[in-house]
Amino acid sequence: MPLLSVILPAYNEEKMIAKAAETLSAILQKENIEAELIFINDGSKDGTWQEIERASLEFNCVRGVSFSRNFGKEAAILAGLEHAKGDCCVVMDCDLQHPPETVIQMYRLWEDGFEIIEGVKSSRGNETKVHGIFTRGFYRLINKATGFDMSRSSDFKLLDQKVVEEYIRLPERKLFFRALSFWLGFKSIEVEYEVQERTAGETKWSFYSLSKYAINNITSFSTAPMQIITVIGVLFLLFSIFLSVQSLVNYFYGQSLGGFTTVILLLLGIGSLLMISLGIIGFYISKIYEEVKRRPRYIVSGKTTNGKE
Ligand code: UDP
Ligand code: MG
Repeated sequence: MPLLSVILPAYNEEKMIAKAAETLSAILQKENIEAELIFINDGSKDGTWQEIERASLEFNCVRGVSFSRNFGKEAAILAGLEHAKGDCCVVMDCDLQHPPETVIQMYRLWEDGFEIIEGVKSSRGNETKVHGIFTRGFYRLINKATGFDMSRSSDFKLLDQKVVEEYIRLPERKLFFRALSFWLGFKSIEVEYEVQERTAGETKWSFYSLSKYAINNITSFSTAPMQIITVIGVLFLLFSIFLSVQSLVNYFYGQSLGGFTTVILLLLGIGSLLMISLGIIGFYISKIYEEVKRRPRYIVSGKTTNGKE
């Protein structure tokens, strides 16, 4: 019988672990699906790891991996995929905002021969207004920069083992699960799901972390920002040629005084553009720097040992 691995990244989710393990193991047992649940403790500061250890003693199918510190959800997903033994893997949030029933639906589609089953949000759930505005802006940028439509996509996916193997072979340090599984290709299909409300704990996304995520992903998928600043530079060059001709003409006609405001405005404009351009180039250089260091993408500090390994 095929084995399904369910990967659940968890960061400060002590209230959700037991509930997730219980709900998932019950529904998978009912549907007669052999499964393992892999919780990745992403350096939580609360009792998440103790909860995972407890769950692994209570439920035979639960395993846990713990990071030495918080490495982020992308790293947690990767660790889960690397530790999974299943013939297919589902990645889902352990706050149960991704409905367990959809996991069953995904598994059935996998049995029908699909290799990637993408969970897409039928709506954006009960997000706050401000959060909604930021995420919409974020996805508009990402879609433009990468050429994929990811506005409704999420990290909720089922991957065949073949796909998982290819994904964990990707050499880059900074991964972007949502888009990279798209980039890999394979036979895929979408499944709609309704984003559930969080019953406990709180979201880990702040405006700061969302901006960081946006910049990181745009710079890893596209060089468009560098092309844009080059084009702006060329426009400025044309403008300055025009201005030089004008000032030379004025000079020869003895009217070269005045224009102080123009000079100040031009200085400010060009100065700030140069700063922004340097900043953009800096993002790419820092990315290269991060990648060439070749540090591990996560560090495991412990695993559950309930006689299974
Ligand atoms: N998460 C993680 N590491 C982090 C932040 C989040 O593993 O640094 C996990 C978190 O425990 C949850 C999932 O990623 O299972 C989604 O996080 P959250 O619910 O905060 O995001 P939202 O659902 O609000 O988009
Ligand atoms: Mg959530």
